[in-house]
Amino acid sequence: MSDARRPQRLHIGLFGRRNAGKSSLCNALCGQDAALVSPVPGTTTDPVEKVMELAPLGPVVLLDTPGLDDAGELGAQRVARSLRTLEEVDVALIVLENQLWGTPERDLAALLKEADVPFGIVCNCRDEAAEQAARGLGPEGFALPASVPLAVCRLDGGATTPAGALDCVRELLVRLRPQEEEPPLLRDLLPPQGRLLLVCPQDGSAPRGRLIMPQVQAIRDALDGDALCLVATDKALGAALNSLREPPQLIVCDSQVIASVAAAVPPDVPLTTFSVLMARLKGDLPLLARGAAALRGLCPGDTVLVQEACSHHPQADDIGRVKIPRLLARLAGGELHCRLLAGRHWQDYDAVSRPRAVVHCGGCTLSRRQMTRRLLTAQRAHLPMTNYGMAISLAQGVLERVLSPFPEALAAYREACLDLNARAGHA
Ligand code: SF4
Repeated sequence: MSDARRPQRLHIGLFGRRNAGKSSLCNALCGQDAALVSPVPGTTTDPVEKVMELAPLGPVVLLDTPGLDDAGELGAQRVARSLRTLEEVDVALIVLENQLWGTPERDLAALLKEADVPFGIVCNCRDEAAEQAARGLGPEGFALPASVPLAVCRLDGGATTPAGALDCVRELLVRLRPQEEEPPLLRDLLPPQGRLLLVCPQDGSAPRGRLIMPQVQAIRDALDGDALCLVATDKALGAALNSLREPPQLIVCDSQVIASVAAAVPPDVPLTTFSVLMARLKGDLPLLARGAAALRGLCPGDTVLVQEACSHHPQADDIGRVKIPRLLARLAGGELHCRLLAGRHWQDYDAVSRPRAVVHCGGCTLSRRQMTRRLLTAQRAHLPMTNYGMAISLAQGVLERVLSPFPEALAAYREACLDLNARAGHA
């Protein structure tokens, strides 16, 4: 079993009406009774997840969702939950019982298109005659372009469905899989066997007994790139620098200690933060740099959304609840209304509170696609967005320095600052 981390797994959403065969498909694909199957419509009441290896795709998460045609007050809530799953999926399968294609499927196909999620149709047929008929229809039979792939199979066996019966579904998923590659985290910033220094403070807010995900990823990416990697706490920074015959070719540090590290490191040594690296890995670094510039235009009383991608127990000096609001207030020169939105699901922006910007966490548990979707939503709402670490570097006066290894992002930040100054001059 691969140890691929969750954000790197292909997220496959199974959608359709109640009793269309979504749970049977989920069980058939994983060869287990992962999802409860029964002839009673609406057996799946919450999305069910199955983390697995699916040949030939590799590591995946299957998301089996409640029926899209559920009725009543509770049913509407289940449908809403199904639709929220759209934010998470990389590809979607619309499962039909026989050839039943109607309003729920049409509406779903429109939503998937709007969200830019590649999707295909799986026709779950009751008998051979239905199979023949479905094969003859093709996607055009459902008023969809021929480019939408279609798989026809019989799933009534659920987990005991013969593997061969699913070959068409696997082929369909291979066709749907997005081809985009994640950029490297840092190895492209170093020459072969380049000297890398990672500064990882291990204070009270660090998890006990382990490093956080961006630090682990940085070490792994450095090793993949054949770099020479030295890891030290901020307290040992001076000793680490002194231990090297030549200065590091890149230093990466935690945003929370960027001010002291930037002061201690000679200006000609390239320096950045884990947050900047994650911003590039997960999304669009120039766009997030422009978002950081917008924070310079905040005024007291403005509303800012502070968004976290997962929920956690708040700590005494919690970053999203205390530190970020405090530093934004310092930037604005007075108190702001900071609204914390935490959780795996993306929330619609509340137009009533007229937010001026979004400051998002590093999104280490999100895939690049999920983060990009969040960025796009913000962009459509004309909301500048940046991340915690970039906001911290801005408030500490070192954002230009930590963006220096990324000329495009630095240029975007400077341009946005000039725009802001020009607008302020006209006001
Ligand atoms: S996703 Fe965001 S809130 Fe969750 S652990 Fe990662 S950085 Fe923290």
